[in-house]
Amino acid sequence: MKIEQAKIKKNIVILGAGFGGIAAAFEIAKKLGKFNLEGSYELILADKNDYHTYTPTLYEIATTSKNLANQMDLKSIATFPLKTIFLGKRITILKKTVSELDLIDGDIHFTGGEKLPFDYLVLALGSESNYFNIPGLKEHSLPLKSFLDALKIRDLIWQKVESGEKNIKIVIGGGGSTGVELAGEIKSWLCQLEEEFSKCDASVQIIEGAPSILPGFNQKIINKVSERLRKIGVELLLNELIEKVEPWKAILKSGRIVEFDVLIWTGGVKSASLMGTLPLKKEQRGRVEVVGEMECFPQSPNLNLYGKIYGLGDAICFYDPLTGKPVPLIAEAAIKEAKVASHNLMEEIKLAEGLTAKPDYQKYNPAKEFPYMIPVGGKYAVAKIGPLIISGLLGWVVKGLVEINYLLLNVLPPIQAFKVWLKGLWIFVKNDRLG
Ligand SMILES: Cc1cc2nc3c(=O)[nH]c(=O)nc-3n(C[C@H](O)[C@H](O)[C@H](O)COP(=O)(O)OP(=O)(O)OC[C@H]3O[C@@H](n4cnc5c(N)ncnc54)[C@H](O)[C@@H]3O)c2cc1C
Repeated sequence: MKIEQAKIKKNIVILGAGFGGIAAAFEIAKKLGKFNLEGSYELILADKNDYHTYTPTLYEIATTSKNLANQMDLKSIATFPLKTIFLGKRITILKKTVSELDLIDGDIHFTGGEKLPFDYLVLALGSESNYFNIPGLKEHSLPLKSFLDALKIRDLIWQKVESGEKNIKIVIGGGGSTGVELAGEIKSWLCQLEEEFSKCDASVQIIEGAPSILPGFNQKIINKVSERLRKIGVELLLNELIEKVEPWKAILKSGRIVEFDVLIWTGGVKSASLMGTLPLKKEQRGRVEVVGEMECFPQSPNLNLYGKIYGLGDAICFYDPLTGKPVPLIAEAAIKEAKVASHNLMEEIKLAEGLTAKPDYQKYNPAKEFPYMIPVGGKYAVAKIGPLIISGLLGWVVKGLVEINYLLLNVLPPIQAFKVWLKGLWIFVKNDRLG
C-alpha cells in the first residue's frame, strides 16, 4: 500500500532522525521556505521512533538510581519528541521502520508493507552494535545504543543491588569512550548509593584489545582517563580480546576467564545493516562510501539510481582526504555532513527549478581534530578542545555547557531546552552524591 500524499509534490525523504537527520531536516526546511518551494516539495522525516535520542546522556540513564528517577523522567531527559522539535515547521514526520530500499525504482518500504516514493533521499540511519561474530557475545551481553538499552542496563544492575547480592561483577567489553564513560559511572554510582544499598565491593572491569583504553585518542587524554579510572577502582584488562562468551563467563584469547554478573558490550559499531544491502559504491571493508559532496554513487557505472541520494553520519564511511583515515563516528561529524548534504541537495533542487544555472556545491572538509568530552565517574570529565585539555570538575562543567548548547542550537525551543537540561542536571547531580 502506498502512503497517501499530494501527488503533485516531489518527495524529499530523510531516513533517520538522529543527529544527522535532524540537522538535515532543519536545513532543508529552512531553504524550502526561503526559496518558496514548500508548495512543490514535501519534506518527510522517517524514523522507527517518534523521538530523537541524545546519546551522550545514555551512560547517565544507565546509572541513575530507581528511587531518584522513573522511566518517564529519564525519557524526558534523553529523548525529545520529533513533534516538539519540529513544531511549526513544514515537515511530515513518519514513525516507521524502513525494511527495504529500492534505489532503482525510488521506493522506500516500511515494515507492515507500506511504500513511500522518493525523489530526493538522505540516508541517515546511523549504526548498530558490531559483535564481530564472537560466539555467545550478542546472546549474553547488553548493548548501549538506545534509550531502552540504557534502561535495561540500569534495571539489571538495580535488580542485583536491591536483592542484596554481594561482589557484583560488571564487565564492559570495549574501552572506547562509551565503555570508559559507562565503567567510570557504574563504579562511582554503586559506591555512592545510600548505606542500605551501597555496593563498593562491586567490581567493574574493562576488557580492551589494544594496549590502552581509548585507542586512537591523544596520549595525554589516555593517561588522564586511565589514572582516574584506576583511582575510582575500575580494573583495566588491556591487550585482551574476548574469544567467546558463555553464561556468566567471557573466555579471552589469552586463555583467561573473566566471570561476570552483567556483561555490557561497547566494543564496536557498524553502519545500519540495511546500508550493506544497497547497490551503492562501497569501500574495501564493505561500508557505503561517500566523498566530498556527500552524494551516494551506484555500485557499478551501468546502474542508474533513482533521483538524488545522499548519505551521512554513522551510516556511511567518509575517508578524510588529508589523513586517509575514516572520519570518526561522532555526532559532530554527522551534523557537519548533514549540512553539506542538505546544501547540495537544495542546489540540485534550485537547478531543477530554474533558480540557478550554476549550482554552488559544497564539499565536506572534516575538522583536523574534533573536540571531545569524556566523563569519568561523578562530576569529573576530561575535555579536549583544540590544544586545551581540561579535566576534573571544570571538564564536567564544560561538558554540561556543550550539552545545553546542542539542545539550544539544534533541538528544542530555548525555554524547553533549559527545562530539560536543568531537570537532567538536578537528577544526575543528586545521583552523583560524592562527586
Ligand atoms: C552511548 C553513546 C554515547 C555517545 N556519546 C557521544 C558523544 O558524547 N559525542 C559524540 O559526538 N558522539 C557520541 N556518540 C556517537 C553519536 O551518537 C553518533 O555518532 C551519532 O548519533 C551519529 O548520528 P547519525 O545521525 O548518523 O545516527 P543516529 O544518531 O544513530 O540516528 C540514526 C537514526 O536512524 C533511526 N533508524 C535506524 N534504523 C532505522 C530503520 N530501519 N528504520 C527507521 N529508522 C531507523 C534510529 O532510530 C536513529 O534515530 C555516542 C554514541 C553512543 C551509542
